[in-house]
Formats: sequence, structure tokens, C-alpha cells
Amino acid sequence: MSGNAARTAAITAVAGYSSTMPTISGESAPGELFGANVFSRSEMQSRLPKSVYKALIATIERSKPLDPTIADVVASAMKDWAIDKGATHYAHVFYPLTGLTAEKHDSFLEPDGTGGSVAEFAGKTLIQGEPDASSFPNGGLRETFEARGYTAWDVTSPAYILENPNGNTLCIPTAFVSWTGEALDKKTPLLRSQQALAVHAARVLRLFGHTDVDRVVSYAGAEQEYFLIDRNFYFARPDLIAAGRTLFGAPAPKGQEFDDHYFGAIPERVLAFMLEAERELLKLGIPAKTRHNEVAPGQFEIAPVFERANIATDHQQLLMVTLRSVAEKYGMECLLHEKPFAGVNGSGKHVNFSLGNSQQGNLLNPGDTPHENAQFLVFCAAVIRAVHLYGGILRSVVASASNDHRLGANEAPPAIISIFLGEQLSDVFDQIAQGGATASKEKGTLEVGVDTLPALPSDPGDRNRTSPFAFTGNRFEFRAPGSSQSIAGPMVAINTIIAESLDVIATDLEAAVADGVDFNDAVQQVLHDIIAEHGAVVFNGDGYSDEWQTEAAARGLKNLRSTVDALPELDTPEAKALFSKYGVLNERELASRYEVYLEQYELSLLVEARTALEVAQTMVVPAATRYQGELASAASAVRAVGLEPDITLLGRVTSTLGALNVATAALADAIEHESGTSLEAARHSHATLVPAMAAVRAAVDELETIVADDLWPLPTYQEMMFIL
Ligand code: ADP
Ligand code: MG
Repeated sequence: MSGNAARTAAITAVAGYSSTMPTISGESAPGELFGANVFSRSEMQSRLPKSVYKALIATIERSKPLDPTIADVVASAMKDWAIDKGATHYAHVFYPLTGLTAEKHDSFLEPDGTGGSVAEFAGKTLIQGEPDASSFPNGGLRETFEARGYTAWDVTSPAYILENPNGNTLCIPTAFVSWTGEALDKKTPLLRSQQALAVHAARVLRLFGHTDVDRVVSYAGAEQEYFLIDRNFYFARPDLIAAGRTLFGAPAPKGQEFDDHYFGAIPERVLAFMLEAERELLKLGIPAKTRHNEVAPGQFEIAPVFERANIATDHQQLLMVTLRSVAEKYGMECLLHEKPFAGVNGSGKHVNFSLGNSQQGNLLNPGDTPHENAQFLVFCAAVIRAVHLYGGILRSVVASASNDHRLGANEAPPAIISIFLGEQLSDVFDQIAQGGATASKEKGTLEVGVDTLPALPSDPGDRNRTSPFAFTGNRFEFRAPGSSQSIAGPMVAINTIIAESLDVIATDLEAAVADGVDFNDAVQQVLHDIIAEHGAVVFNGDGYSDEWQTEAAARGLKNLRSTVDALPELDTPEAKALFSKYGVLNERELASRYEVYLEQYELSLLVEARTALEVAQTMVVPAATRYQGELASAASAVRAVGLEPDITLLGRVTSTLGALNVATAALADAIEHESGTSLEAARHSHATLVPAMAAVRAAVDELETIVADDLWPLPTYQEMMFIL
């Protein structure tokens, strides 16, 4: 469909929308919907023998190894539930390193040996699957002769039903590992990192006198930003289809400068989509709540309520899939790319996280007593230390070709990983740094350099939005992850680096206490030392400013602007030591990830470059040439009647076409290059393809502003962002 036909179709669709809009009818109220498609605890409780249910909960809650003898019972109950829900198939769902979600579907039906069939689902089928799936990237962990990959049931993430008009599927979240047990996915290290965090958080809690310490987990709440456009436009843009972002497009006359879209009224079709998406998410047990318009035209946000990191991560994946499929139903395409449109705001996925358990609550919540506050400050200090020491790793886990358009570019947050604490908390740490020894001791309480910690508002007004890592009252918000990314990588990094800090702190405190040092003094000392050594990572100012770039360098903070600068942070001795020490990723596993992410980067750029070349050559050049012909014949016609035509425009079209031809030739050359190691190839692509595409784009965007609108083959920014 040419741009014009697409535009007409979209306008007709939008204009006549209310008459054709699908409606949700005859369904129950949102309250009754929640978790309707989830094999939930209450479902388990009602369907499983008491002892089996108890054993299963022990595994989920306290990581007790799963008793294999109960698997058959659970599988059978799960199957009956699924069949009641209309399921005919089951799927092990796993999360490969591409960041996407993968499913291997199988039918419940098996031949019964007498020509009929029975629905079968044995314990071993629940626990383990063998999807092969050998073409998922593995960074060298699987040679083809050892190609077997296994999926293993993740008991902690609930099974659910995926609905389809032609039949439902029971989906079982799984970890995906090689036959040697090495992680091939995003879930395995996440589960391992949760374990490491639990161990060392418990040590610290015991030092603070808690005898009854339940398993500490991290919680994550991710805010998902996305764009919606009419699908008619989407199909007319090969760049959106292939690369997820527009590789061309002159700025719209009206962009986001009026801020009139931000929290503005939501178009009817979009609201209808949101309502249905929310219902679908509720059914899947995903508590999606907020909705509003984001800064850019056509941009929106959805934020599910926080959950345990592992479940939140699976739910995030499901959320992205749901947004896309529901949008299609309403004739729209949901764009999850970090920067679908140049020059307007991009999309991030802020990851809010905290840690805690049922007994001690949220450990990042400042408490009501000095004792609780001392404990809070220790956990906070652990985060500060971790982010200072491992900022490079945090940067590397959000590195991708698409996120490069946000981080380190002219958009927030900056590529420098610093922490925002807010005025009050910074002040407390300043006091500790200065006067650690002045604590007054009272029997039974802990005083840590400040008389009492001022009550921190749980939602402080001074929310600095330019910081990549901000304390927001009772949690931290990591703002660097991109909208299309899995939050597994960020959560693995966060869990592991905090586990390491807590390990070091616990070891210090345990030794001091063993030496007979007063616990209060020991805590005091630890806090003092951490803030003295790692306070440089705290920055409450404007992260977008140029001064910050200079100051950050002076403070020794890394500024890793692009993926090729950031990914090598996974290849350092520190990273290898960190991830292997805490049993999260061994060196082979880490190396394989490094390899895969480099390959993904390189491939993304190549796809973009090829698409840019094709669109320029087969759509833009022909359109501009036609227009050039029209202008030329008009000039001849003018000359034929003895007048001198104004050929300024013809000259401009001709010279811009010339520039475009030079640029496409250079891009074609840049695409054809020899690659050495993955890092060399990625660096080469970064250095050559990015500028070559920019040159092609400059000429194309120039042509867009002068070629006749009825000849222009691509839907424009104005159309895509404003016709909704
Ligand atoms: P913002 O002001 O940053 O836009 P939102 O209300 O949109 O905030 O999103 C906040 C996110 O943080 C939600 O997903 C919410 O559930 C999550 N969140 C709130 N409290 C915690 C917590 N203690 N731990 C982790 N996430 C949390
Ligand atoms: Mg936010």
C-alpha cells in the first residue's frame, strides 16, 4: 500500500471508528476476573490433596526442593483445571536470550492404543520438556552435537491459560538450560540471583537481631511505555515492520512542544484498547493499573503493581505480548521500540524495585524507630555501594541497539549511572560521613550518627526524573531499561550486586561483633566507610546537564555512551568474579551472553541498514525521480511558450537526489564488510553503519519536505502520530 492509500484507509478507519469498534460483552466484572486464567493458590488448594499443596507451597515460598513424587498429582490437577478452562494444548514457555518469549506447544491428547485418544499430562511432562529449540542464540554454549535444550518447570511462577478463539493453551513458565545444566535463558540466572540475595540479606537481618527470618526476595514493578499507531500506516512502513522504528521521517510541523498530549484526554479507540488489554491482563493475574498519555503524541504507559521479581518478569513478557495482540484487534500496532520516532520522546521501562519478606517487611522502607532506621540505612548503603562498584554492569545489562537511542543520546536518562537519594536522605548520609562517631547511645536503641532519621515521605515531592537510579521513598527506580527489553537482565544485575554488598557488609559486621565491638559502633563504622568510599555515585542534580558529564568524569564515574562501549563490561575480571562467586552465571555462561548480545547488536544494525537501503532505493528514489520528471516537463512547457521557468525546486530535488545516491552507495559499502570477532564486528557496525544510515536519512528527510505529497510513498510523522 502506498503512503497515500494507507493514509486514506487509516483516516476512514479512524473517522468511522465508533461504529465498528469491537466491544467486550457478557463478561464478568473486573473484580471477578482477576486471576481467572491462572492456576492460582486457591485453585491449587481446592484441587490438590492437603499434603501435596503444602509441599508445593513450601517450594514456592521457601525454595524447598520440589518433591518429584508429587509432580504427577500436581500435573493431573493442573490438566483437569486447564481442560475445564477449554485448553486442548499445553506449552512450556521460556525466555531465550533474544529477550522475547518462546513457547513449545503440544497436545494433551495421546493415542490410547485402541484407536482412540486420551488426555494425558504426566508429572514428568510438567517438570521437564525438551523443545530442542537449537536455533535460539546460545553464544557457543551448545554445539549442534549437544544441541539438546531442556525446559524445567519454574514452580514459583504460576501456570496460566492463553486464550485463542480456536482453542486455549495451558502455559507453564519454565527455565531453559542446556543438557549440561547451563543457562540458555533469562529466567535461570534470575532465580539464582534471588537465592544469592536471600542468603546475604538474611545474614544482615540476623545481625539486627531478627531470629525468625523468612526468605528475602526482591520485588519489581515495571512501567511500560509504548506507542500506538494505526495499522494501515504500519503496513506501509517497511522500516517499522523490519526494525520496529522509523528509519526515515521529517519532523512533524507539530511535535510534542505543546505538551498537550501529556496526561491529555485519551482517544476513544485507545481507551477501548486499554480497557480490553487491562481485562486480559487481569485474567492472567497481572495487576495492571495506571494509564495515561505520555509526553509524545501517540505514546502511553501501563504500570502493573509490583510483584516478586521473578513473577513480575514473566508478567512483563506477557504484558508486552498482550499489548501487541489486543492493539491488533483494534486496528492498531503497539510499538515497543525505544525510539520509534526520531525527535520525539522515546520509551523506557522504569524498573521499580525493593526487597523484603513477610516478617521484616520492605527493607527499603525507612522505619519508625531508630533501630529500624539503622537497618534501613544499612540496606540503602548496600545499594549505594553496589551501584558505585558495578555501575558498568548496570549499564551493560540495558545496552542494545534500540536503547542506544535513549541512553547517552540527547534523551534521558544519561548513560552515566549515578544514584539520586533526595535531599533528606542525602543529608542523613552526609551527617554519617562527617560525624560518624558522635552517636549518642541509649540502651536498646541504635543511633547512627543522627539523632533520629527524619520521617521520609514515602512519595517525596522532589522526584528527580533525570537520574538513572533514584530513591523514591521506599524503593529504587532504575530508569535506564528500554521499553522493549526484558526486565530479567536488570533484575539479575540488581540482585547480584546487592547480594555482594550485603555479603561484604555482613562479613564486616560479623567480624566486628565477634571481636567484641559494640554492634551500634560497628554499624556506624560500616555506614561511614561506605559513604566515604562510595558517596561519589550520589548525585541529586540535573543529569541532563553538560556540567554533569564533566563532573561525573572527575568523580571517576563511567560514561558508556553506546552498546559497544557498555557490553565489554560483561567481559571484565570483576564481572566474571561477581557472577560466578554468587552462583548466578559461571564464566562460560557469562561469556555466552556477552557473545549473544554483541551478535544481537550487530544483527539489529544490519537489518536496519539493509532496510534503509531498500526503502531509499525502491521507494524514495523512484518517487523523487518521478517528481523531478514532473518538474522538468513543467519547465519545458514554460520554455515552450517563450518564458523562463523558475527551476530552483528542480535544482533542489536534483541535488538532493544526487546526495541520496552517494549516501546509499556508501551505505551499501558499509554493509559489505568483513567481520572479525563479535566485538570487532559490533564496533565496526557502530562506527560505519550508524553514520551511513544517518547520511541516507538526511537526504530522504530533505526530499520528504519538497517532493509532492501525493507522490510520497511513506506515511509521515504527522499522520502516524496524530491520526489515532
Ligand atoms: P511513577 O511516578 O514513577 O510514574 P507509577 O505509579 O507509574 O510511578 O509506577 C510505580 C511502579 O512502582 C508501579 O509498578 C508500582 O507497583 C511500583 N512500586 C511501588 N512500590 C514498590 C515497591 N515497594 N517495590 C517495588 N515496586 C514498587
Ligand atoms: Mg517512573
